[in-house]
Amino acid sequence: MIDVLVVGSGGAGLSAALHAKKEGANVLVVSKTYPTHSQTCQAQGGMNAVITEQDRVENHVHDTLKSSHGLGEEATIQSMCEDAKPIIEWLDELGVPFTRTSEGKIAQRKMGGASHSRSCYSADYTGLKILHTLYDTALKENIEFLNEHMILNIIVENEQAVGITAMDLKTSQVKEILAKTVILATGGYISIYNGFNTNSNATTGDGVAAALRAGAKLSNMEFIQFHPTAIKGANVLISESARGEGGYLVDDKGERFVDELKPRDVVARAIYDKMHQDKTVYLDLRHLGLDKINEVMPQERRLAMQFAHVKIEEELLPINPAAHYCMGGVFINDRSETTRENLYACGECAQSNVHGANRLGGNSLLEILSFGKKAGTEAALKARNTQYLTKEDTQQYQSDKNFIAQVFHLPNQIDFYDKKAFMGKIFFRNVGLYRNDINMKAVLSQVRQWQKEFMFMGITDKCTIYNRNLVEFIEFGNMLELSEVVVISAISRCESRGAHYREDHPMEVESYAKNSIAYRYDNTLAVEFKG
Ligand SMILES: Cc1cc2nc3c(=O)[nH]c(=O)nc-3n(C[C@H](O)[C@H](O)[C@H](O)COP(=O)(O)OP(=O)(O)OC[C@H]3O[C@@H](n4cnc5c(N)ncnc54)[C@H](O)[C@@H]3O)c2cc1C
Repeated sequence: MIDVLVVGSGGAGLSAALHAKKEGANVLVVSKTYPTHSQTCQAQGGMNAVITEQDRVENHVHDTLKSSHGLGEEATIQSMCEDAKPIIEWLDELGVPFTRTSEGKIAQRKMGGASHSRSCYSADYTGLKILHTLYDTALKENIEFLNEHMILNIIVENEQAVGITAMDLKTSQVKEILAKTVILATGGYISIYNGFNTNSNATTGDGVAAALRAGAKLSNMEFIQFHPTAIKGANVLISESARGEGGYLVDDKGERFVDELKPRDVVARAIYDKMHQDKTVYLDLRHLGLDKINEVMPQERRLAMQFAHVKIEEELLPINPAAHYCMGGVFINDRSETTRENLYACGECAQSNVHGANRLGGNSLLEILSFGKKAGTEAALKARNTQYLTKEDTQQYQSDKNFIAQVFHLPNQIDFYDKKAFMGKIFFRNVGLYRNDINMKAVLSQVRQWQKEFMFMGITDKCTIYNRNLVEFIEFGNMLELSEVVVISAISRCESRGAHYREDHPMEVESYAKNSIAYRYDNTLAVEFKG
């Protein structure tokens, strides 16, 4: 019998699993990939925490609130920032190899929008080191894993989440997994910017789409963060730590044109403007020297060589902005509860009221660990007083089995890979760094057309063993569902705030200093604004 079912094995999922286990719960982690493959392992720059006398938690709260552009909730941010020091101490005890100062203390670097050097790091492998250490710990704690299983839907009985349906990627078989409480930790939905983002192809928002279908509310889906520095064309991220360590942004003439440590939305738009004047923008790290580069950004040096054939200690690295992070997601309160009973969410799939309109670099790793802890603890406590559903063969299970069987027989008149590529392009151009009503409405009508055509986009590979074509078809369905929510939310927010910049409404408007809330009502998508 499963008390707490965690879906997703990135930093948020593993943190949730470990804390649920600590409360004595019987935990299962179900995940589409292996834990070592999650998005968290890509995090390079660091995790924010006030750990020295020179900095104060109030500064961290202030910086985060400022960057949220009036949308972050102060009490929730305060609680996350207070959590940071004990979490770093916990990670340190578990064995995360943080980079140290010459006095042996955990080293910190400055990230954009931060008033102090506050990001704790492991060279530029921070996420990877944290993830591996959490995974080792989870194995030591005998937490059970079911890898290569993708969530299809959340099973809801009597208005409560009672488990999930999942497809075994190895066999294409649909399974019903019942549990007292369910935690979604499935990461973001940035893949709708297909080909124009810095993330892995697996970040297709499956958990967020499943939550919407299960009647949970989503929030702030229009806020997409564009990272200023991805390697031009390849869209492989060069972390903000490169600028934090002293890197410059220069134009064709070799001149700096923006304060490199301004928040990401400001720097990304400054670069995009240059590109629109047909100029190339470069990251200049040459003055840091090879020794420093090897010490603090060995991975970035390797990535620049591999993807741009550039030696960053000698040459300028051409870059462009790319979609990077979703501030929106499943709406949760400060206890990680969603609006659907017994369903929790944490990490990038959730909107936890801390990032608002713009996330600060280094705050996501903190968020996934802080809210992972809350979700795990709260779900385990709730499970103690929750009945396990004994009835199997739920209606959801039956309908998902039928759906997967049907997919094998759908006509393949339209190639969904073409549509996915086009989706990325039109989202980057029209629901990107600059937006306006006319362009977004054109995107919306295109998305709705694809939704109508979806059942004519069937799979060509009919094999049942490791069928990537089938997985990508299901993922595309989720992307279509969420892309509609992103566009409608962005059209509805008639103002500019943080990462959401409207050419036709260039100012912040007080009446929109609210979260957007999206939900399905009688099969219709509704978006409203709540303070
Ligand atoms: C290149 C890069 C660099 C970054 N650098 C930093 C940084 O320096 N500092 C910082 O704070 N943040 C950084 N971030 C952001 C941060 O890494 C992420 O926001 C964070 O790691 C997300 O963690 P998560 O656990 O919520 O999701 P993920 O780590 O994305 O994990 C999601 C999990 O859900 C699983 N999953 C997905 N779909 C399904 C499904 N259908 N069924 C079952 N399981 C599913 C996946 O397999 C995976 O295990 C960076 C991000 C990127 C892309």
